[in-house]
Amino acid sequence: MKKTAIFWFRRDFRLEDNTALNQALDSGFEVLPIFIFDTHILEDIARDDARLSFIHSKLESINNKLMSKGSSLLCLKGKPLNVWQQLIEKYSIAEVFINKDYEPYSKERDDKIKQLLENNGIPMHAFKDQVIFEENEIIKEDGNPYTMFTPYKNKWLKTFQSLPLKSITKLKWDSFVKAHHPFPSLLKMGFIKSTIKVKDYDLSQLDHYLQTRDFPAADATSYLSPHLRFGTLSIRQLIGQLKPNHSTFLGELIWREFFMQILYHFPKVVNQNFKSKYDDILWNNNEADFKKWCEGKTGYPLVDAGMRQLNQSGFMHNRVRMVTASFLCKHLLIDWRWGEAYFAQKLLDYELSSNNGNWQWAAGTGSDSAPYFRIFNPMEQQRKFDKNAAYIKQWLPEYGTTNYPQAMIDHKFARERCLKAYKAGIA
Ligand code: FAD
Repeated sequence: MKKTAIFWFRRDFRLEDNTALNQALDSGFEVLPIFIFDTHILEDIARDDARLSFIHSKLESINNKLMSKGSSLLCLKGKPLNVWQQLIEKYSIAEVFINKDYEPYSKERDDKIKQLLENNGIPMHAFKDQVIFEENEIIKEDGNPYTMFTPYKNKWLKTFQSLPLKSITKLKWDSFVKAHHPFPSLLKMGFIKSTIKVKDYDLSQLDHYLQTRDFPAADATSYLSPHLRFGTLSIRQLIGQLKPNHSTFLGELIWREFFMQILYHFPKVVNQNFKSKYDDILWNNNEADFKKWCEGKTGYPLVDAGMRQLNQSGFMHNRVRMVTASFLCKHLLIDWRWGEAYFAQKLLDYELSSNNGNWQWAAGTGSDSAPYFRIFNPMEQQRKFDKNAAYIKQWLPEYGTTNYPQAMIDHKFARERCLKAYKAGIA
C-alpha cells in the first residue's frame, strides 16, 4: 500500500495559509485531508446547532475545491481515538500533521492520539497556526507569564516588530491523494441546518473602529470572532492587512492571545477564580432571576436587548456583553460560571479562553479584571452608548409599551448589596 501523510482539520477550516496543511503538502508524501465529527461533542449539542451548520458548510466548500482538483475530504464520525485506530488499520500512514489546539479537552485528545500513533511508529507533527504568539512565546524577563494585559501587549508588539509575517497562498494541489470520498449531509448525521447564520466578516470600517466600536447600533465591529474561532481566516493574513491607524483593533486581537496564554498557564481558571481571594463570595444564584436574564426580561433595556440578540442571532456586541455579564454577577449576584455556561451554549464565536477571561473580567475575579467595586449602571450605559435606543428597539419590539417589564431590581439597592457581598467574601 502506498504511504500517505494525513492532514487533520480541526479549527482551521481553510486551504489558504494553513500552516500544518502546507507542511503536509511539503512532506513528499501524498496528503489525505480528513475531518472527524467528534461524537463526544455532537452528543452535547442541539439538533440545529448553528456552529455545526457553519462547520459543515465550510467543510463542504473545502471539499468542493478539492473535488475540482480530483481530490476530496475524508469525513469520519466517532470518538477520535477510535477513528484513528481505524485509520491506522486501513491506511499506510507515513506522518500526521495538525495545527495545535490549546484548549484542555483538545490537548488531552491530541496527547492520546500522538501516543497511539507513536506506538504504531507514526510521527505526529503539530504546528502553531491560530495565533501569532503561543504558549511561552510572550513571557516576562524572569520567565513567568504575564497576568496584566498592558505589559503583555507591549511585549507582544515589541516581539512582533522583529517578526517576518509570512503567509503561504500557493497550494500544491498535485500533492493531495486523488480519491473521491462521499461528503455526509447534516441530516445523515442526525442534525438539521440552523436558521442562524454566521455573518461574513467585514474589515471596511476599521479606519473608524476607535470612534464607533462601542456603539452597538453602529454595527461597526468586524464580526471576525467566529472566523477566528474556526480558522476560516488566517490570523497572519488578517494582521498583514492592518494599517498603522488600526492599533486599537490590533489591541483587541492581542486580548484574544492574552486570554489564551492565561488559560494555558493557569488551567484552573476553567472552573475556578483566577484570584482565589474571591472564592468565598456568597452568590445568590436565584434560578428565577437567572431565567429572566437568559430570556432578556430583566426590565433593563440594554441588558434585555443584548440577551435577545444573543438568543436570536448567536452574537452579542462586545459593549453589551460587558453590561449583561456585569448585571448578572453584580446586580443579580449570580455566579459568573452560570453566565459563562449560558454564553458558551449560545455564542457562535464561543471560545473557552476569551469567554472565561471576559466573564472573570466582568466578575472582578480574573487576571486583569474590572475592580469589584466598578459596577456598571445599565441605564447610564444605555444613555452613553445607545442614546437614541436604536439598538434596543431593534431587539425589543415591546420596548416603550406596557408589555415591557418593570426593572426586576433597583439599581441602587443592587449596587449596595453587591458591594456588601464582595467585601464580606474577600478573604
Ligand atoms: P471586534 O471588535 O471587531 O474585534 C476583533 C477581534 O478581536 C474579535 O473578533 C476577537 O477575536 C478579538 N476581541 C475583541 N474583543 C475581545 C475581548 N474582549 N477579548 C478577547 N478577544 C477580543 N470573544 C470570543 O471570540 N469568544 C467568546 O466566547 C467571547 N465571550 C465573551 C464574553 C464576555 C462576557 C465578553 C464581555 C466578551 C466576550 N468575547 C468573546 C469578546 C468580544 O466580545 C468578542 O470577541 C467580540 O464582540 C466579537 O465581535 P467582533 O469580531 O465584531 O469584534
